[in-house]
Amino acid sequence: MSVRPVSFSAAGVHVLHEEGGHEGDVAWADLGFNAAQRTATIACPVCPSVSTWPVGGGADPEMGQRLFVHLVKRRQNKTWLQSLAIAKALCDADEGPERWRLKGATEDLT
Ligand SMILES: [Zn+2]
Repeated sequence: MSVRPVSFSAAGVHVLHEEGGHEGDVAWADLGFNAAQRTATIACPVCPSVSTWPVGGGADPEMGQRLFVHLVKRRQNKTWLQSLAIAKALCDADEGPERWRLKGATEDLT
């Protein structure tokens, strides 16, 4: 989980690579997303490090889950509420309903 999302925008994700002390912006199109495997990947914009985030959010459940909801919305062309429901269902299936951290309010996601 070393390359982590810090904030989201219309253009992409601001990320921090803790071990490398790197940070920068990654465009939405440059993020990896595999809905079948329930994972997202973020490549450090500075060095070759890549981190894989499970739908449950790994070491940072809230930000990892937000990342996944954003990717469902953009890659599967869904609304926020649809994306929340899809991501939560995948998370529930993987890790049980106690794992989910996000509320329903879409304004909390950005
Ligand atoms: Zn790096």
